[in-house]
Formats: sequence, C-alpha cells, structure tokens
Amino acid sequence: MKITAIETFVLLDPGYDPSACSSAQDDIVVLVHTDEGITGIGEVDTNPWVAQTMIHARGTHVLGLGLAEMLLGQDPLQPEALWDRAYTGSLMTGRRGLGICAMGALDMALWDIRGKALGQPCWKQLGGAAKPSIPVYASLLPTGRTVAEYRDSLAAKARQAKELGFRAGKMEICVKGPYSHNGIQAGDDAIVEIATACREAAGPEFVMMVDVCYCWSNAKEALAVLRRLEPLDLFFLETPLQLDDLDGHAYLHDHSPVRIAAGELQNTRFEFLDLMDRGKIDVAQPDVGRVGGITEARRVCDLARDRGRLIVPHCWKTGIGIAASAHLSAATAHCAYIEFLPAALAESPLRRDLVVEELRLVGGATPLPQSPGLGIELNREALDRYTVAHQVSR
Ligand SMILES: [Mg+2]
Repeated sequence: MKITAIETFVLLDPGYDPSACSSAQDDIVVLVHTDEGITGIGEVDTNPWVAQTMIHARGTHVLGLGLAEMLLGQDPLQPEALWDRAYTGSLMTGRRGLGICAMGALDMALWDIRGKALGQPCWKQLGGAAKPSIPVYASLLPTGRTVAEYRDSLAAKARQAKELGFRAGKMEICVKGPYSHNGIQAGDDAIVEIATACREAAGPEFVMMVDVCYCWSNAKEALAVLRRLEPLDLFFLETPLQLDDLDGHAYLHDHSPVRIAAGELQNTRFEFLDLMDRGKIDVAQPDVGRVGGITEARRVCDLARDRGRLIVPHCWKTGIGIAASAHLSAATAHCAYIEFLPAALAESPLRRDLVVEELRLVGGATPLPQSPGLGIELNREALDRYTVAHQVSR
C-alpha cells in the first residue's frame, strides 16, 4: 500500500469569539489517501492555518524536508517508522511546536489507515485491551462575565453532566491570570468559592477535577490555594503554573495535598521527560495530536508507566481527537480517564457536527470501540460547511 495524497481542511466556527478561551472554535482535519482506496482521518489542536502550511510546504535539504513530500509514496502501515522519518527529516523546521503538531495529525491518520487495512480497532494495534471499558470525564466550561454567573453556570453544568451519566468531571475555574475566561479577573477566594459550589452541586461521590489554566505566578501562591481546596477531595488540579516552571511543579508535587496534572501543550516525549523527571507531575496529560500523534502519545504513556504516573489525555477538539484518546486509553492500564467534551454541553458546532457518532456512556465509561481504525465517520456536509481553506499534496 502507498500514500497517494494528503488533503487538509482548515475549519472555522463562523460565530467564533476571539476573546474566548476555547480552541474548539477552529480545527485542521487531515485526510491521508492510499492507492488501495483506504483513507485515514486525523486532526490536531493548534493554529490550523500554520499547521496546514507545515504539512504542505516543500523543503530543499535533508534537515528541512516537507512533511507531505516525505510521506507521499510511503507505506502507511508503519506509522512509527514514518514518525521517525518525518521527525528526522524536519529537524531544523519541526522538532517541537507546530511541526510536531502537524506530524501528530498525520500520524493519527496513519493509525486509522492501519486499523482499517487490518480490520481492527486501533487499540488492538497498540497492545490490546488493558481495561474492559474506557472511563471518561466531562470537561465543563462555564459561561458568565461575573464570578457569580460563572459559579452558577459551572455548578449547573456539573449537575447536567451527572444527569447525562458522567461520574467524573473537570471544572474550568479560570478567573485569574493571563488566560482567565470572559474578561473575569478575581482572586483566590473566588476559585475556592466556585470549586466549593461545584462540589456541592455534584455531590460527594462525583470525581471532580479543577483546571485553573496557568493562573498562579509562583508555586507558593499556588500551594496556599491547593491547601484550601484539599477538603473538596479533588482528583487533580490542572496547570497551576506556567509550563516552563519545572521547579515550581516539583515544589508542588512535594508539598501539595492535591495531585498536579499538566502537559496539554507538550510536544514530543522529550518535553514529557522534563515535566515528569524534573517537574515531578503526578498526572501527564498528552494531547494526542499536539504531542505528535498516537505514536508519540504511546511513548509518553510508556514513560509514565515506568515512573508510576497516571495518564489523562487532554482533548478539546472534535470526535476525531476524542476517538484517538479513547483508543490510546483502551490499551493503557494507567490511563485513568479520557477528557470528553460532551456534544450536548459543547458550545462549538465543530465539536457537535463534524463526526457522525457520539461516544456512548455506560456507567461513566464508554465501551471499547469495535470498528476498524479510529472507528469514526466524518459528516462530509459539515466538513464542507465549515472549511475555509483546503489544500492537497499528491
Ligand atoms: Mg486545561
């Protein structure tokens, strides 16, 4: 089998809000075509216009080859070998950042092709079932422009998630720092107040995580609030500090009564090695696309396993990325949950419309997918409707 064409689509929610903190307002979808009529599907959560350029741009020397031109004509059934080829051949222009994100979307599509060609779901190719079903958590993003509106919206979403059958949920409490939501700037008291309201709404049995989106400027400031949150029995607190403050993360690991989770923006296993070994994070959160695809996410999972850390993948895109997370989790015993933005609670039409099927929830988990590959079907009408830039290399 040979790769014959690589097609990319930049998608945009026509109602997008540039002040929003949701990357689900745009997307890049990658289709990898083969001479046997099998097409693989991938996506990545990054700037889609730049990723599209990364994929189709030509190269003129062995340190900076083009991603599409390196893959065209190759056998798609060996994604790991093609990952290493693409990484090596784009060393000067790729290696981290958007180069790895673009490779991640392509790699996801190659795994989809391999599964379809072999007639097996991707998790079987990743080592087989490590669990009977895949636990999921609802990712809950509130609305509101005041602390009270934000608190009430989030508490209501926690109740809704429970009603939809979720047993775990993550509360986005982003009310201070550089990435606060909706223009809100409040203090640490507001974080504790909102988290407490969510715990009351969700009840004591609900597994609750909190994401503060890099809101604290140093570890001591973060620790003071983590101690106040301890009675709420959080499963983890996500991204307390800027990602490059590795020593600050290590300080929190050593002193915090709550597990620390981070890694949503990391590219490659090498950046996770820093975060795990120097930053000592308890929960590694590779985003399957951004980290470099299923191939590289698998390698991160192996490193986490060897260090006794949990995996909870980040995913804030469409059913494509959710499917990739689900297959990774199915084959990873120490993957505690996958992030799942339920379509019923999603603001983004891309999240709601792009993939035909929605994960089923049974007892707070989703059954192991049984269809070949990633097991997803694109809604072509939605793909066409939201596409603002299309390119193809052949
Ligand atoms: Mg987050």
